[in-house]
Amino acid sequence: ILARIKDVCKRNGLLILSVLSVTIGCLLGFFLRTRRLSQQEISYFQFPGELLMRMLKMLILPLVVSRNMFPANLVEATFKQYRTRSIPIIKSNKASSESTTRRIIIYGVQDENGSNVQNFALDITPPPEVIYKSEPGASDGMNVLGIVIFSATMGIMLGRMGNSGVPLVSFCQCLNESVMKIVAVAVWYFPFGIVFLIAGKILEMDDPSAIGKKLGFYAITVVCGLVVHGLFILPMMYFFITKKNPIVFIRGILQALLIALATSSSSATLPITFKCLLENNHVDRRIARFVLPVGATINMDGTALYEAVAAIFIAQVNNYELDFGQIITISITATAASIGAAGIPQAGLVTMVIVLTSVGLPTDDITLIIAVDWALDRFRTMINVLGDALAAGIMAHICRKEFIKDGDEVTTPGAGV
Ligand code: ASP
Repeated sequence: ILARIKDVCKRNGLLILSVLSVTIGCLLGFFLRTRRLSQQEISYFQFPGELLMRMLKMLILPLVVSRNMFPANLVEATFKQYRTRSIPIIKSNKASSESTTRRIIIYGVQDENGSNVQNFALDITPPPEVIYKSEPGASDGMNVLGIVIFSATMGIMLGRMGNSGVPLVSFCQCLNESVMKIVAVAVWYFPFGIVFLIAGKILEMDDPSAIGKKLGFYAITVVCGLVVHGLFILPMMYFFITKKNPIVFIRGILQALLIALATSSSSATLPITFKCLLENNHVDRRIARFVLPVGATINMDGTALYEAVAAIFIAQVNNYELDFGQIITISITATAASIGAAGIPQAGLVTMVIVLTSVGLPTDDITLIIAVDWALDRFRTMINVLGDALAAGIMAHICRKEFIKDGDEVTTPGAGV
């Protein structure tokens, strides 16, 4: 039994530490509230948490740039390589993403001076000096949407440049890998920082029990949203496009979904998702090889949904009235931020800063949701993996004739439903 406990602790060390630090942070916070600390003492106490927030913010720029630049390039390069019928599919995808961009511009974005289409258009085409805007304020001045659009455009162009674009592509790859290595080291500081972040927040709050109740509602809202998306919207999309039974398909990837629940990482789940798709759902190997890694990098429905709900929750806690334009902005930036999130545990928490920044909400209030994030992360990762797998199933269906022509047998379960 001891050996087993040791093994579980070794494999889930970070998770156990995170759960412990949340618990310790809450207990410490409530205990210190009874001690009536001075403002100065509270600020000393909050310092390790402040360091954690700075680390997270420091990683955003390289993370967003390298993540958005590299996958866009990968899409182009891979499709050039295959030169199959899937090229028209990607072209139509590109068309839809262009129309999304157009829609973004039409909706506009709410800045401090009100809704303004021109400001929005200026923001997404930033000169270098305003990538970090100099004005102080709650938004921390980062023009994230501009960075996302600039990097994605660069990525697409690099893909078209062929060999001459290779050095910059390798640079992005290196940048991405090194950022991920920094994240891998930084996560060991997180449990320590979390204790002080949570305790510091509890020390600051007027009535923690009121927040606790709200936090419960927030967690239930996120879980309900994920359930509706995972059990109805995604399967229905699969059914309408392929006319096959989504339940049979989902049964085939159950093991991958459980691994996602256990690891909170769609990247770590990737080998199992591959295995399930190939062995249980008989998705063509070439489709899985392309769709799954791209999906694990940029297709994160669960993360996008959670970030939007979390931003609205933080706005409500601060009694901040969001208008329709700001809710649209939150939806768009949450989707963009989920593209920037890596497939690792709680990466969504890092990119959450992007969403809050876009509507000028206080980024420090991320601490409010940390307490339940380790649990919600598991559910949203399941939906991320489910979305990737169903996308691969849909692609396999669309491309089936092409692959049968190539001499491959493509059979997907649930056909004829
Ligand atoms: N843990 C998620 C994933 O790996 C990312 C996140 O939302 O934090 O898919």
